[in-house]
Amino acid sequence: MSANADTADVIVIGAGIVGAACAEHFAELGLRVRVLDDGRGGATGAGMGHLVVMDDNPAELALSRYSLALWRKLREHMPSACGYGQCGTLWLAANAEEMDVARSKQAALALQEVPSELIGPAPLAAIEPLLRPGLLGALKVPGDGILYAPAVAQWLLQRQPLIQRCRARVTAVAAQRVELADGRVLTAPYVVVANGLAAQQLLPELPLRAKKGHLLITDRYPGQVHHQLVELGYGASAHSNAGTSVAFNVQPRPTGQLLIGSSRQFDSLDPAVQPALLARMLQRAVEYLPRLADLNGIRAWTGFRAASPDGLPLLGEHPRQRGLWLALGHEGLGVTTATGSARVLAAQMLGEPASIDVQPYSPARFAVPLQVCP
Ligand SMILES: Cc1cc2nc3c(=O)[nH]c(=O)nc-3n(C[C@H](O)[C@H](O)[C@H](O)COP(=O)(O)OP(=O)(O)OC[C@H]3O[C@@H](n4cnc5c(N)ncnc54)[C@H](O)[C@@H]3O)c2cc1C
Repeated sequence: MSANADTADVIVIGAGIVGAACAEHFAELGLRVRVLDDGRGGATGAGMGHLVVMDDNPAELALSRYSLALWRKLREHMPSACGYGQCGTLWLAANAEEMDVARSKQAALALQEVPSELIGPAPLAAIEPLLRPGLLGALKVPGDGILYAPAVAQWLLQRQPLIQRCRARVTAVAAQRVELADGRVLTAPYVVVANGLAAQQLLPELPLRAKKGHLLITDRYPGQVHHQLVELGYGASAHSNAGTSVAFNVQPRPTGQLLIGSSRQFDSLDPAVQPALLARMLQRAVEYLPRLADLNGIRAWTGFRAASPDGLPLLGEHPRQRGLWLALGHEGLGVTTATGSARVLAAQMLGEPASIDVQPYSPARFAVPLQVCP
């Protein structure tokens, strides 16, 4: 059975990785899903596709760990175009303080039964010989991976016959109701807003902020780098709430290309590549991988992460509008956490138990109390 024009149980706004993962899971549960996307694109097409367990707080760890386990199951069915690879992450320690951070990280991951391994300078140089000498070691997280998110989003949407995709621009949303740019009004028992940063225009009351990021991809140089390489200072960059920061983050693509990040910048909505910031990011990368200076970069671009004030996504019912559901604010981790987000949301919509505690992601945490008139 496919969802026909009048009988969707769920309308999902946005066909990025989060909307696609939600649609796929709802359809798996037997719901008829209509996905609306106007084709403008968003963070899914601009991001890095690193599937990474992050542990800056227990809720982030719970959602990323849960989601990674789901991705590892899904990957068995993925076509090669999805670019899935389980290369693992090497969190690099440049000094004794960062080695302490690596040990704490290992302890936090071990508590949640996420396998990881501390490795010293010699084994690190053996597995990644192009890293600069002098690093003190790394934490290796072998269960982390990579994928090509735009292809995965397409694949997820094609997997289920109960999903109907429509090219349409949504101009307004309300509980169980969606207005389109062509004047049509669609209704469904559940409306899910999953259109990333663009949700600011539909629901300006939500506390979403843009965090601009730059990436650069090189020509093909197969076999140079084998793991996703990230400096341990990345966490501080990723979670700062102001200013501009860069951190070393390099991914070996299945094509042999190297994807180089990352930068984070608040309060800019200008998509232009900023040469000075790109240069700063690349300088940081060359400090860790000196050989990068000899490689050809073939394209640089930018994208916008949708950040919430506490860095966690908003997954649940709109605090003021029953029947309007949110899957937003995934910041720099939305590819990783799309699968878990879909299940956390579906459990709440259907009133069923979830596999992890859903409270930390509740949009109600940002609800401003209503003023009582005297
Ligand atoms: C530089 C950068 C690097 C990143 N690296 C990683 C990483 O390594 N790992 C990771 O896990 N995450 C990473 N992320 C974050 C990740 O890319 C995002 O969290 C994720 O893609 C968000 O997906 P989404 O589906 O919520 O939104 P989006 O991908 O923004 O999709 C929104 C969709 O909604 C549609 N849309 C918008 N408005 C409307 C409208 N009014 N009507 C109809 N359709 C509409 C758009 O066309 C788009 O398809 C990175 C992000 C950036 C910018």
